Amino acid sequence: MPNKKRTKIVATLGPSTSDPDIIKKMILEGADVFRVNFSHANYEGVKKNIKMIREISDALDTSTAILADLQGPKLRVGLMKEEVVVEPGDTILFCTGKEFEGTSKRVYMNYDNFPKDVKAGERVLLDDGKLIFEIIATNGKDEVETKVIQGGPLRSRKGVNLPNTNISLPALTIKDKEDAVFAISQEVDWIALSFVRHAEDLKELQALIEAHSEYKIPIIAKIEKPEAVKNIDKIVAYCDGLMVARGDLGVEIPAAEVPLIQKELVLTAKKARIPVIIATQMMETMITSLTPTRAEVNDVANSVMDGADAVMLSGETSVGKYPVEVIRTMANICINVENSPLINVPQEPPHVRTNRYITKSICYHAANMANEIEARAICTLTNSGYTAFQISAWRPDAHILVYTSNKRILSRLNLLWGVKSFYYDKFVSTDETVEDVNRIACKSGFVKKGDYLINLAAMPIVDKGMVNTLRVSQV
Ligand code: PGA
Ligand code: MN
Repeated sequence: MPNKKRTKIVATLGPSTSDPDIIKKMILEGADVFRVNFSHANYEGVKKNIKMIREISDALDTSTAILADLQGPKLRVGLMKEEVVVEPGDTILFCTGKEFEGTSKRVYMNYDNFPKDVKAGERVLLDDGKLIFEIIATNGKDEVETKVIQGGPLRSRKGVNLPNTNISLPALTIKDKEDAVFAISQEVDWIALSFVRHAEDLKELQALIEAHSEYKIPIIAKIEKPEAVKNIDKIVAYCDGLMVARGDLGVEIPAAEVPLIQKELVLTAKKARIPVIIATQMMETMITSLTPTRAEVNDVANSVMDGADAVMLSGETSVGKYPVEVIRTMANICINVENSPLINVPQEPPHVRTNRYITKSICYHAANMANEIEARAICTLTNSGYTAFQISAWRPDAHILVYTSNKRILSRLNLLWGVKSFYYDKFVSTDETVEDVNRIACKSGFVKKGDYLINLAAMPIVDKGMVNTLRVSQV
């Protein structure tokens, strides 16, 4: 029986997922994409992990995707000598320059311009805003004195947010460039960039990919800065997917503003027909408990109903106690809502007459027709994956089965809502191909005898051109 969950689950790799048996179980329970978080990664480990995932995925006959997540201009404190707990009223120095091990008095900050960019009175937020400091004074060179407003444990390498400060850091740091080149060498399926502020940030990453990869690797813009929300229309034009990165977003702007922004971002992505991932604290309780809160269950369900392609797990799978169970629980929530008629994604047909207009129009009508005639699957042959993005965006009831001879896109498409991809490399005649494709659909368990199927293809089939044909067949 194939896994018929349609919403995709992105699981972050970490110490809890190092065992191949755990990875295998996670895939079987519904993990579709594994995220390598380059904030905490060493290349040897990543290499081993990616190889292991690809092998397991092949053995299971799935197309599990790998998402490389670049840290971006993320501010962090350094290593701490021991865990320090700070109390309101304590004075702490944040120091730049040469890295050192932090203590309860002095903590290293990885951002050299910190003392220049900040002013007294501004706030420093640490560990997703759990700790709050107020700046008392800066020497403008290498030291900033702060007072603790909200205390708690101050741990190694925790992230820092400066919601009131205009940060003078490049979009792609030296580390990001190295990480990107390494990720490209590992043939990852997607690359995400953190703390995107402008479309230019994405262009820079695009250029880097182009210079190092034969294939275009699609980019996900992580929306976690107020500037990104403001520039979203331009950003969408230069990326292939969005992530609503609520962890940092909810610190950079008041958390109460995140729900509405999440909905707006999903709508923006759906109109552009690119995938959108909802991230962070979706099942947070399951890091240590087998039972999510009712609020978490509702959050996952509502994200799916808003039109998310994928929901993401971070600590739940990377360091959590229940990396397999959390996938099972999350998959179950998705399955319970994803076929509801209450799911509301925009259904306005494509009207911009680009050179892909006919293909877009066929995909739109295929999705609608499939609903009308109750076709069980839409089968599309593609070389670039373009039609898979288009059909998926309309959220048809039918399964979206994608056939391609381009091995590089097989796993890439696994992030898209409702899409299942198959390798297929015989392009003899349309009749024969349609028969083949339908046979594979049957064999995989997605359709059965008597079901209607919609086949999309580019005719003549040997030319591998743009989709121009819609055919209805019965198994
Ligand atoms: P991160 O991104 O886990 O890489 O910080 C997600 C988020 O900020 O929500
Ligand atoms: Mn983030």
